[in-house]
Amino acid sequence: MTSISAPVPPTPVLPASVAPDAGTAADLAPRKVDLIGLSRAELVTEMARMQLPRFRADQLWHWIYHKGVTDFSAMTTLAKPVRANLSGYYTIGRLAVSSRQESQDGTIKWLFRLADGHEIETVFIPEDDRGTLCISSQVGCTLNCRFCHTGTQRLVRNLTAGEIVGQLMAVFDDLADWPSGRDNRYVTSIVMMGMGEPLYNYDNVRTALKIIMDEAGIALSRRRITLSTTGIIPQMQACGEELAVNLAVSLHAVTDALRDELVPINRKYPIAEVLAACRAYPRATNARRITFEYVMLKGVNDSQADAEALVKLIAGIPAKVNLIPFNPWPGSLYETSDAATIEAFARVVMRAGYASPVRKPRGRDILAACGQLKSASERQRRGAANRRPADAAE
Ligand code: SAH
Repeated sequence: MTSISAPVPPTPVLPASVAPDAGTAADLAPRKVDLIGLSRAELVTEMARMQLPRFRADQLWHWIYHKGVTDFSAMTTLAKPVRANLSGYYTIGRLAVSSRQESQDGTIKWLFRLADGHEIETVFIPEDDRGTLCISSQVGCTLNCRFCHTGTQRLVRNLTAGEIVGQLMAVFDDLADWPSGRDNRYVTSIVMMGMGEPLYNYDNVRTALKIIMDEAGIALSRRRITLSTTGIIPQMQACGEELAVNLAVSLHAVTDALRDELVPINRKYPIAEVLAACRAYPRATNARRITFEYVMLKGVNDSQADAEALVKLIAGIPAKVNLIPFNPWPGSLYETSDAATIEAFARVVMRAGYASPVRKPRGRDILAACGQLKSASERQRRGAANRRPADAAE
């Protein structure tokens, strides 16, 4: 009788991606493949290469994404020889934590070091009845929005799907938030609002979000996922059709002249076209409103006239307007609008029938608030570099 419990293949198949190339002895040691970030279908294919049937891949998925297990030997539903064989070829990786800072208001910011040495930031924002994790999609950013510190750092690269999901998984480890699907979890929603423009890295973001939404694993509902974009029109429709997550659009200005200056990608994707894409966004129903993000810059975009123009622009779009008091950073050119100005702006928006919540700045003391990411770590490094010659001179 053939056992269905997947015997160890007589000649274990080397995954193609680790096939050693001819060369030094060091090259001959196969590098293990990290399973984090493979789509469900890719995992099934990978396990088929190990001569394991589909249901084994399903079990593996459950261990990895539901239980948060990182060690094959703990996967008790798999036969011991299978576990041993898998650990010979694969790993279940975690991002390395470079630093972890906790704000006075409970916000936590992690600096993660990637395998190639680059670093990214992830922020957890706890509230009374929920917790939001703000996830990065790129190392740095190409957009150069004038008021955003991440934008002053040139793009280094897109994150892989594994590095995007990896942020969430590392945070689950830190907060003891495994297994997924329990009540009273810390992380109840995620926002793709960290460093980078997620729609410029759409393929990897899509793979990552599909992993995160998969019901047999992390199982976070699309209703609890918001993707924020400056309005990269070619990917907006696909995002709605394939992921159907909540959409947030960084608007920030009501004229193209000003938006060209604040959000330079506006020269390519101007306001009217971005709003047309919002109107066509597959999830734009009253139940699933689009969020327009609007940073409040003193004397720049915060007048009553701006508010009135804003509600005219978005007329007919099921939407809410999230007003974000500008978060300053070292060297920033702008000031935050006064509280009274923000309130007056919010009233105009509200009277037009749109919810207009003011985003409470969180984690400013650790530079974890919107638009402040990566700055602290970069500054520390620059500071260290600047100090070195002086130290040597002493
Ligand atoms: N690139 C995407 C994802 C980043 S989301 C996007 O732009 O939508 C981060 C949000 O914070 C965006 O709305 C961004 O415009 C806003 N932001 C950037 N810098 C800020 C700052 N200094 N103060 C307040 N909000 C800021």
